[in-house]
This record gives sequence, C-alpha cells and structure tokens, in this order.
Amino acid sequence: MIPDKGKKSSVLLIYTGGTIGMKEDPKTGALKPFDFKGILDEVPELGKFAFKVDSFTFQPLIDSSDVEPHLWKQLAVLIKNRYEEYDGFVILHGTDTMAYSASALSFMLDNLQKPVVFTGSQLPIGRPRTDGKENLISSVEIASAKDASGHATVPEVCIYFNSQLLRGNRSTKVNATGFDAFCSPNLPSLAVAGIDIRYNTGVIRYPVWNDGELTVSTKLDTRVSVLKIHPGITEQAVRDILLGSGTRAVILETYGAGNAISKEWFLNIIKEADAMGKILLNVTQCLSGDVNMDIYETGRSLKKTGVLSGYDITTESALGKLFFLMGKHSGNSQVKALLSHNMRGEISK
Ligand code: ASP
Repeated sequence: MIPDKGKKSSVLLIYTGGTIGMKEDPKTGALKPFDFKGILDEVPELGKFAFKVDSFTFQPLIDSSDVEPHLWKQLAVLIKNRYEEYDGFVILHGTDTMAYSASALSFMLDNLQKPVVFTGSQLPIGRPRTDGKENLISSVEIASAKDASGHATVPEVCIYFNSQLLRGNRSTKVNATGFDAFCSPNLPSLAVAGIDIRYNTGVIRYPVWNDGELTVSTKLDTRVSVLKIHPGITEQAVRDILLGSGTRAVILETYGAGNAISKEWFLNIIKEADAMGKILLNVTQCLSGDVNMDIYETGRSLKKTGVLSGYDITTESALGKLFFLMGKHSGNSQVKALLSHNMRGEISK
C-alpha cells in the first residue's frame, strides 16, 4: 500500500447501534436505536472536515448487549471490501460490549495499516449534554490522521472515548454512567485529545509498511467459557463449567496475581479438564497488573496442572484471542503456544 500524499482523506463511518444513536420510545421511555440520518443531522460539524465522510448503516441496528460474533465477521468483511477506498474507519457501537468487539476485530484483521476507531456515547447524540458529538468528531479526525509520509497515524483497532484513545484489546468498560466509561489499565493511552490531539508514538504499534494485503479471519471457534472464581463457589458449578462437553477452552478469572482455591477438589477438576484436552487460561480479576503463577503456592498448583498464564490480558481480549486462535487451529498445541505470544499488543510481553 503506497500512500498517495496528495489524495484527499476519506473516512467510512459504520453505524451498528448503541446509545449514541438511540432515542426514547414515547410510550415506554426506553431507549431504542433510530435511523443514522438522525445522527448526521445532529452533527453538522462532520460536514466541516476537509475530507470525505461516508456512512454505512447495519440493519438491524442493535443495542450492543445483543452483539454476536457474526457482527464482528460482517464488520471485518466490510472493512476488507472497502479498505482501498478509505483512509480510516469509525465504528459507532454501544459501549456495553465495545471492548469485546474491538478486541475481537484486532485479532481478525491482520496486517492492518489503517485506523479502525470504535466509539459511542453514554448519552444519546440528541441530548444537550451528550458526549456523543465530541467522541464522534474526534474519532473521525483520528481515523483520517496521517503522518508526513502519508501513513496512518494510528494503524490500530482502538477505542476513542472521553478524550482518550485506547488500544482496543487493552480496553475495558469501567463506568456504567460516567463519561469516562473506558480505561486501559495496563497500557497508556495511544492519544489524548485536548486543544490538539497528542499522539503517543512510543505506544502506538506500527506495521511493517508494505504492499501486503489486509487479511481477514472470519472463522471463529466460540467454544469458550469464563469461570469467575469466588469464595463459596460450589464444586458442582466449577464442574459444570470446566468439564462441560461444549467447551474447548475456559478462561479462569482468578484472584490477584493468578491465585485460585487450593482445595483438592478444585485442583482435581482442573486436572480432569486438562486431561480432557481443554485449554485453561488464567486471567486476573484485578483491573491492573498481571498473572504470575510462581509467587504463591495456590498459583504454582495451577501452573503444575497445565493452566496457562494470561499475563496482563483483559477477559474481553482473552475471549477474542481464543475465538480467533481456535478458529484458525484445530490442534490445541498451536493455540496454547500462541496464547503466550504478543500478537496485537494485547499483552505486555
Ligand atoms: N446498552 C447500550 C449499548 O451498549 C449502552 C451504550 O451504548 O452505551 O448498546
């Protein structure tokens, strides 16, 4: 992909639903998605950019609580099909599952050389105090930004929210009602928007700029469960999740640096799951920091029974990475090897 420095920038705005484009149902008062044209009417500022902004609306528009992997496949294929036409992509998406979608897309899009920026809002765009306008306008600006040689400033899948640009697969939703809905606990922001947008070039990941094509993987294996351990968890609940026939991998959400119950019954179930060939990934329940199964005896026992470290990966990212890797590889040994490999900047390793 050789950049044409003289070419006018263009951005494709992809609308999937979410609060940003919702309005109240007059009968029930509940928020429901409305037509995309309404958003463009609400944000005439988009017309002031010196570059082209086109839009694409998904049908049906959804609350992101209803997001399923087939939406990620549609998004990946859409980006692939329109990749040569646009310099960047902005995806308007509900906040509830945005970190899951951004994480999954980061794995599904290989050799990405252009920005894919997810954004949304906590208040619908028509409301006077909405955060949607700023989120949308800055996202479009980021998606169109190029350096002096014509390469994309942020060639990554990211989330822009409340003045912060975060790596998608490092983000998590942390506030249900505040405008600071997302954070990236283990990686600094890729950019911060103030009077101008300051890019953190030491953190942004750059591809090998080349002619190589964007490759899209749409084969996902979703046979993954998440087991959040807690005091009082029953043996039966652990059995059901770890030994269920429908799961190929289980993300164990453990305490602190990757510690879990040291009781014999728990470790026996882990051993049984490992013997059944399940992939077991240890992810900490803590917001920041990483898994280190060598510190405590409880962690060591897990390691001995075949549990793999998730390092500082988020659960959202672990899920996307497993779906992607398991879709690509039928053998668990390849999946296991790649889980400890930093593929898209998702772990500090
Ligand atoms: N429930 C909404 C959604 O995720 C919340 C939001 O957009 O902020 O679609």
